[in-house]
Amino acid sequence: MAQTREYSTVMFKKILIANRGEIACRVIKTARKMGIATVAVCSDVDRDALHVQMADESVFIGPSPSVQSYLRIERIVQACQETGAEAVHPGYGFLSENPLFTQALDKAGIVFIGPNVRALEVMGDKIASKKLAIKAGVNTVPGSTDVIRDPDDAVRIARDIGFPVMLKASAGGGGKGIRLAWNEAECREGFQRATNEAQASFGDGRVFIEKFIEKPRHIEIQLIADNHGQILHLNERECSIQRRHQKVIEEAPSAFIDPATRQAMGAQAIALARSVDYRSAGTVEFIVDKDRNFYFLEMNTRLQVEHPVTEMITGLDLVELMIRVAAGEPLGLTQDQIGINGWAIESRVYAEDPYRGFLPAIGRLMRYQPPAENAHVRVDTGVTDGGEVSMYYDPMIAKLITWDHDRDRAIRQMRHALDWFYIGGLGNNTPFLAALMNHPQFKSGDISTDFIAEQYPDGFQSPVPPEAERHLLVAVAAAVHRYHVDRDASITQQLPGHEHHPGDDWVVVVDGAHYPLTIRRDAAGFTIDAAHQKQPLRIDGLWHLGHPLFEARIDGELVCVQVERDGISYRLSHHSFRVKALVLTPSVAEYQKQMLDKPAPDLSKYLLSPMPGLLVQVLVKPGENVKAGQDLAIIEAMKMENVLRAARDGTISEIRVEAGASLSVDQVIIEFS
Ligand code: ADP
Ligand code: ADP
Ligand code: MG
Repeated sequence: MAQTREYSTVMFKKILIANRGEIACRVIKTARKMGIATVAVCSDVDRDALHVQMADESVFIGPSPSVQSYLRIERIVQACQETGAEAVHPGYGFLSENPLFTQALDKAGIVFIGPNVRALEVMGDKIASKKLAIKAGVNTVPGSTDVIRDPDDAVRIARDIGFPVMLKASAGGGGKGIRLAWNEAECREGFQRATNEAQASFGDGRVFIEKFIEKPRHIEIQLIADNHGQILHLNERECSIQRRHQKVIEEAPSAFIDPATRQAMGAQAIALARSVDYRSAGTVEFIVDKDRNFYFLEMNTRLQVEHPVTEMITGLDLVELMIRVAAGEPLGLTQDQIGINGWAIESRVYAEDPYRGFLPAIGRLMRYQPPAENAHVRVDTGVTDGGEVSMYYDPMIAKLITWDHDRDRAIRQMRHALDWFYIGGLGNNTPFLAALMNHPQFKSGDISTDFIAEQYPDGFQSPVPPEAERHLLVAVAAAVHRYHVDRDASITQQLPGHEHHPGDDWVVVVDGAHYPLTIRRDAAGFTIDAAHQKQPLRIDGLWHLGHPLFEARIDGELVCVQVERDGISYRLSHHSFRVKALVLTPSVAEYQKQMLDKPAPDLSKYLLSPMPGLLVQVLVKPGENVKAGQDLAIIEAMKMENVLRAARDGTISEIRVEAGASLSVDQVIIEFS
């Protein structure tokens, strides 16, 4: 983030941040850098929150539910008056796009760090903004900007447009009030549902229809505009990786956009902003089809969650620019000064459990340790170690942003940084984010807004580690165990009669597989010999017992594995892989093997169904003696009848299923005595 010039004499001395969480912290950072004092506002649950700690002063504005605190216009205006704040940064969400808030601030003589009222009003309405976009020469999704009157009207318009269509609430936002329809029946129902949802959520049930663009990419243009007629675009961001219309991964630039398309999208975004005399930061969202046709979706008249990726590739501080233009300064930049330097990716770290259908997780962050920031890693956090994620607000804990010279390397940085992101005591989506970063199709850049739904139709499970990964985790389990055993030995050795040296030969058990190995410790780390490795594996690094991160060079490569003790086993996570490992002495491992190896059932006593199918007929009866090769039963599968025959001579003791039953694979049909 460059941009240091002399501050003008009209620059604010104190601003209030009408928000919470990571974005409040983010704004405070820049204000502090600019020498501007900051006022935080907080609700009940947020009294000790990070944004309150970071601000120079804070004002308590009410109980935890946002309608009683962060959404109270009058209370926030009053907080400005009490503290002498000259301007307000609204962050995103809450009051950031509310024209009534801007008007109230205006009336009180307080500057809103954002656009003018008219821009908020027009862009807050999807029908009004689409009409304006058409007038400004912006490509819009084919469809109609008329308000739909009733289901018949909806069907008539949908027929004109051609299915599939999307029904959208004009007042919609946050993915609410959107319905997809592939046929007339769905169109009728979708109209009702979108209307009801919009009426309930926004008190405005108006719905319109547009063409559904199949497998589109979500690509948006960041704008910044001053009060002096200068509007610049700061390139695109791609936000196609979404779950239920909620962005999960964002990047800049987009792998799909060529310079000509970028230039055309930028020009249209600027034209739209100009038509409402736009000032401040804003984003024009487009969907882009497979032929790179792009269509206007909506304009977000605020700072966006994903703005850091733009900052990373342009070197600009968007919050600083917002504050400067709000104070009346000209941008002092021209379009040709805006470049693209490298590649940036953002992961939204949510308090939701990917292993349980992404259910929101609420509670205390027993241990919160984000990766260290450096030239490649940025962390925008809103919480602290021991802090709480409450049910009242957004479940986003932090944003992790990585940068590098190209996309591949930025992805690798992200995969790496996620390993260092430790969140203890609360379900979170970091394993899922790591899996996305490791997904071949994501890596190839071939993505669309359907990516997550298509690739994870049944939700998320930890992928099975490939062999090399398993071997790495086996080695780490052995090293971690070595620390524990050596520590225990150093304690017991002081007791007379207990001087025993722990052995070097162990067996690591992962998913029932046994990995015998020999581990030797020296001053710098460990050397591990094992039959499953071609050469000895070298671990260099020192670990502190009980620390959740095991950081080391493994065969020269820097690796960070998250370690949790779980009874006598260890739970290890690395990239998106998770294993449970047990480290045993060879004799115990042998014993354990026998304990676990249940005697295999004697399947020769049974006739099993070799395939799923329908049992057509059983040709034998209990008590009957059969000869090898004799027909026993007929099953129908894949439209063919299959005869099952006796493998050897025997006596039928029981028929387990009756003709007409549907069989699964390996289901017992007949038992022999
Ligand atoms: P869009 O998906 O249209 O780009 P954003 O992803 O930029 O919208 O985020 C806006 C959303 O962020 C709001 O609708 C709200 O749910 C959420 N939000 C609002 N305030 C906060 C906050 N302080 N911390 C985290 N999330 C917030
Ligand atoms: P919101 O205000 O809820 O953010 P948007 O209009 O920005 O609503 O749409 C949200 C998401 O829905 C987009 O990112 C895109 O994935 C999808 N979407 C919206 N309109 C269309 C369309 N016409 N065709 C296909 N997908 C769409
Ligand atoms: Mg949107």
